[in-house]
Amino acid sequence: MMRWAYEELSTGKWLIDQIWRAASEKGLKTGRKNFWQIIRNPIYCGRIPIAKYKEEEAHTAKGQHEAIISEGLFYKVMDVLNGRNKPKKTTICSPDMLPLRGFLICPECGSMLSGSASKGYNNYYHYYHCIAKCGVRYNAEKVNKLFIEELKKYTIDPVLHEAYAMILKQVYQYVSSEDNNELASVKKQLEDFNIRFSKARDKMLNDVILDFEYRKIKSDCEKNILILENRLINLSRGKENIIQLIGKATGLLKNLHETYLEADSAGKRRLISSIYPQKLTFDGTQHRTVRMNEAVRVLGT
Ligand SMILES: [Zn+2]
Repeated sequence: MMRWAYEELSTGKWLIDQIWRAASEKGLKTGRKNFWQIIRNPIYCGRIPIAKYKEEEAHTAKGQHEAIISEGLFYKVMDVLNGRNKPKKTTICSPDMLPLRGFLICPECGSMLSGSASKGYNNYYHYYHCIAKCGVRYNAEKVNKLFIEELKKYTIDPVLHEAYAMILKQVYQYVSSEDNNELASVKKQLEDFNIRFSKARDKMLNDVILDFEYRKIKSDCEKNILILENRLINLSRGKENIIQLIGKATGLLKNLHETYLEADSAGKRRLISSIYPQKLTFDGTQHRTVRMNEAVRVLGT
């Protein structure tokens, strides 16, 4: 009986109360509250709960008794009960076949196209479609293929690739010159504190200032030097990666359609939304868009 209850619960299709009622009808003689408690008792998967004791946290230990259900099943049910394993809607359409779902606008009515699969003779056919009333429907394979053709238009000429990388580098250096000014200022302050510190030491050694005065200056200088050194580290951090980053960015554009083809479902969707800030309209023969990412547009044409 308990094994049955765990198995049903693990599917995530039922509420614990539904299972309790069904089990009661099958002859289980325990109250609802008690059922809620015993379901969470690891004793059914062969473990004994051990309460918190002194320094030791509450935990479970392997018991000598025979387990009614596996630990895997027990913890799966715990996940369901704790809401971590929400029942998933079963779907026959594969997201890999419909990467453009959510990005396409119906050319007839302006609604967002959805994607589905229908079963053919021995295969599923995927398509993007509008609401039933509108009736617009496109073969997903064809739409996906044409989208890749569209991406190819924005692929950078390899000859120009180097030039783009160089321009980006120069722009970056120009933009980061402000950072460089701050860097120089921090270095100068650091030097000043170091000079002040060594001067104070000389004065102390020559009995110009007293020992406690020297110690005060010393601790003041050390504190400031520490702060400035941290600023220095922060300012120079990340600079060394910029060349690599530029290479990666222009490399991505160089092979935009290849990058897209190699990406997984989530990666494809990220790429699409970064290239096209607005949705695409597929009119049956080609993709159209009102606006696309400036960088891609400028570099690709
Ligand atoms: Zn429509």
